[in-house]
Amino acid sequence: MRHPTDTMQHLKKYLAELDTQNMLRTLREVESAQGPHVQIGGREYLLLCSNNYLGLANHPVLIEASCRATHDFGVGSGASRLVSGSMSLHHRLEEQIAAFKGTEAALLFNSGYAANNGIIQGLLGASDTVFSDALNHASIIDGCRLSGAKIEIYPHNDMAALEQMLNDARAKRRGRWLIVTDGVFSMDGDMAPLNRLVELKEQFDAWLMVDDAHGGGVLGQHGRGIAEHFGCLGRIDLQMGTFGKAFGGFGAYLAAAQPVIDRLINSSRAFIFSTSLPPGVIAANAEALRLVDSSEGQKRRENLENNRYLFSTRLQQAGLNLCGSTTQIVPILTCHPEPTMQAASALLKQGIFLSGIRPPTVSSGACRLRATLMADHDPSEVVAAADKIIALLKTMDAVDA
Ligand SMILES: *Cc1c(COP(=O)(O)O)cnc(C)c1O
Repeated sequence: MRHPTDTMQHLKKYLAELDTQNMLRTLREVESAQGPHVQIGGREYLLLCSNNYLGLANHPVLIEASCRATHDFGVGSGASRLVSGSMSLHHRLEEQIAAFKGTEAALLFNSGYAANNGIIQGLLGASDTVFSDALNHASIIDGCRLSGAKIEIYPHNDMAALEQMLNDARAKRRGRWLIVTDGVFSMDGDMAPLNRLVELKEQFDAWLMVDDAHGGGVLGQHGRGIAEHFGCLGRIDLQMGTFGKAFGGFGAYLAAAQPVIDRLINSSRAFIFSTSLPPGVIAANAEALRLVDSSEGQKRRENLENNRYLFSTRLQQAGLNLCGSTTQIVPILTCHPEPTMQAASALLKQGIFLSGIRPPTVSSGACRLRATLMADHDPSEVVAAADKIIALLKTMDAVDA
């Protein structure tokens, strides 16, 4: 019989091996609120790896709304939506989301991870087929697997390849077809070609689902996300988005037609079997939606775009490979784990906090430093950080700079 400590030995050996390969993941304790600067180990750093793109996580109006709702309705919702946890706050926020996205209805999920799991599992079954971009977020991949549907993976943003796959599959088509894509890809910072995807989904009578985690609040004149950016808001069947990034809060949603929402209420396990979001979170999200759609939201988007432009053009002019980024997510290709993690820790010593990305998050050989800009970064600090990154990478042979 195996003694429990044997298992501990195995775990320790596994972790030690990861460490020697520069592949061990550990947590970094942040001691302050999530502003453009954060405190770690008593020292202040420029934060270049937060998804708090518009700086709303600390916005006084959101904090006030959250405190008021907590005071009036408590810290917890007490149950799942289908039991007693479907509070007026949830219903009003869902109406607000539907109006924002121009859909009939919307449904809240407890996180983006839970939404992608629960939407795809709730709508597809074994006789259906999902066509999924090769670089889609892990939560989409897991949702596809959970659904039991046939999974066809098309090369990243390759519309000719997708069209070919749809054509090839047509002869033996049985169930429903779903094309699913990130809107803004979380590791490359590029965008899905939504207009072409809409054409294909209409031509082949498939559903189109877009995960707008990184586009919501940021893209489009009113911050309605990637669909507004491409002018095709009314033509996407399933618009998924999150509140944890540009909206500064927490949670996620699907905006879609009423029958789709009703179906999910009856079949989505992530929706059904989980306590609903607490009042304080819902109230902050509602305020964030209003703010994003205001002149202040507009101003914050302009600041973010200015910072993105300053940072990206500087790095690009120095000859660094930014993986095709056109958004506030700016990857800097460093290829292998060792130089990636060396560069990240050298930058930390210089007061810059950004993340080194390794497999399995990206494919092997595609390691990168991943920087994300915020609306409330000081432009001069953004430029100074870019210069430090350039100076550092030029000294590292392994990086092609
Ligand atoms: C962050 C992210 C999610 C998960 O959202 P959470 O609310 O953090 O669980 C889903 N999809 C994409 C593309 C993301 O970047």
